[in-house]
Amino acid sequence: MRCRKCSAKAIIRLPRHNTAFCPACFSEYVTDQIERAIKSDRMFGRDEGVAVAVSGGKDSLVLWEILSRLGYRTLGLHIDLGIGEYSERSRKKVEAFAAGRGLPFVVHSLREEHGAGLSEIAEGLRRPPCSACGVVKRYNMNAIAFQHGMPVVATGHNLDDEAARLLGNVLHWQEDYLDKQSPVLPNSHPKLVRKVKPLYRLAEREIAAWAVLQKIDYIVDECPNSQGSKMLLYKDALNRLEAASPGTKHQFYFQFLDRQKTRAQAAPAEPDLRECASCGQPSTAEVCGYCKLVGTLKVLQ
Ligand SMILES: [Zn+2]
Ligand SMILES: [Zn+2]
Repeated sequence: MRCRKCSAKAIIRLPRHNTAFCPACFSEYVTDQIERAIKSDRMFGRDEGVAVAVSGGKDSLVLWEILSRLGYRTLGLHIDLGIGEYSERSRKKVEAFAAGRGLPFVVHSLREEHGAGLSEIAEGLRRPPCSACGVVKRYNMNAIAFQHGMPVVATGHNLDDEAARLLGNVLHWQEDYLDKQSPVLPNSHPKLVRKVKPLYRLAEREIAAWAVLQKIDYIVDECPNSQGSKMLLYKDALNRLEAASPGTKHQFYFQFLDRQKTRAQAAPAEPDLRECASCGQPSTAEVCGYCKLVGTLKVLQ
């Protein structure tokens, strides 16, 4: 198998693009897809700082690596969820990655802040851990980026994540979520930062291959709470479709994005935001979801 660009020995086949690449041309392809996402979707400019949400997994570390290589001013944000050994190892991967490259980062530890990890918090509140996790991450990512003067938070969501999320939203016809599923979410309040997903043009296996080629040391295990999750089921279903018909994932998600642009122009749906009575962060209710979660936790302790 030969590289379609330079005829050197290819190391990866990309059936959805009907092509194959050598290591150098593959690396160029990965970087190009990210730069294309940043520019064509107007995610952020050269003069803006970018906070990168880093879990310690391959996607977020690859994103941080490429943004810093491209010369963007980055700040790593890591939320230590306090889920036993998994969180300890994830945090160490982030710390080692940043130290090896001299990159600045901030760690926010749930256990240090609230005296409990995510699993205990979710159990105490009788909420599924993934729903509590979503509230904790969204709130803290925004608040920390804002405190550090960063106008943008970039997350490592890839094509597989976005296609699986789209499938879940369509299966349940969650139209509110469909409206919000976009590679760029503008800030709808002065205290909210923009949220962007520069990896949305790349498949999970492409990012994994790049991480291995570049010897990026990441945590391979999935979050223990994600075992048996719906997202994994949707990813598995899409992978089967993709194997039988390469390009299915790409078409499913990209055609949705095309239609979404037309829908967004027709009805710009902006939620009414006020400031949370407790913490001052933007909220749709009098008290924000995070303060409610933390408040209930205090009652339980
Ligand atoms: Zn090549
Ligand atoms: Zn609040």
